[in-house]
Amino acid sequence: ALANRTAVVTGSTSGIGLAIARRFAAAGANIVINGLGDASAIEAERAGIERDFDVRCLYSPANMLSGAEIGEMIKLALDSFGSCDILVNNAGIQHVAPIDEFPDEKWQAIIEINLIAAFHSIKAALPGMKQRGFGRIINIASAHALVASPYKSAYVAAKHGIAGLTKTVALEAATNGVTVNAICPGYVWTPLVERQIPDTMAARGLTKEQVIHDVLLEAQPTKQFVTVDQVAGLALFLASEEAASMTGTILPIDGGWTAH
Ligand code: NAD
Repeated sequence: ALANRTAVVTGSTSGIGLAIARRFAAAGANIVINGLGDASAIEAERAGIERDFDVRCLYSPANMLSGAEIGEMIKLALDSFGSCDILVNNAGIQHVAPIDEFPDEKWQAIIEINLIAAFHSIKAALPGMKQRGFGRIINIASAHALVASPYKSAYVAAKHGIAGLTKTVALEAATNGVTVNAICPGYVWTPLVERQIPDTMAARGLTKEQVIHDVLLEAQPTKQFVTVDQVAGLALFLASEEAASMTGTILPIDGGWTAH
């Protein structure tokens, strides 16, 4: 369904982004992957996508803290494949601490990586999308774009911000064949969630099991983690022709969390 399309997926060396990159490749898109991590592991992932799905896949090392490097990432897609038809803003980090103890540099980095990076990538990719009359921008927000949780001030602020960015760009691009939507997962079992368990244990004085069941899955009526493949399936639909009339939406995929 995505033959002759090019997708750029930020933060696709792990978790949700990796699942989306592989799902889009399976649908026939050429892919630009991006993210931090061990060089040989990233190369294995890149080569694996080409081999498994018979598409082309390139790696951009752009750090989402740098607007210039984000511009280079979009340019890599344009120069190598002729277009950036689908942009998935997925890279993200988390830090859990009460606001009166929140490290300034963590607050700054969360806002830059989880919010400002999407401004830079959209700014770089949108002109070409408008010119070609087709584009799909998919922002991976969070249930925390809709509701808050204590000790996640920077993350909740960034995710509420990306919801506003999504709606604004949707309006600006509405007559150009470009849709802009946000996916809001509840808790998905990925390294990002695993890494916040120790801090949540410390912040709330709980055991690991208590954090998983009483904090994480407490919010989620299904009592199940969302899977990366479920998020990738929704992203694939948003990237499709059939989703042309869906724009400016903020879509929960959260096991009922935000129905509370
Ligand atoms: P993850 O930690 O598995 O993956 C994050 C990716 O972002 C990695 O590839 C990492 O290398 C990349 N990244 C981090 N900092 C970067 C930087 N400075 N420059 C470039 N790349 C960088 O996390 P995940 O759980 O797959 O999260 C992906 C997205 O989904 C994030 O935006 C996150 O907020 C969102 N999300 C996750 C959950 C969840 O429960 N896991 C829930 C809702 C939303």
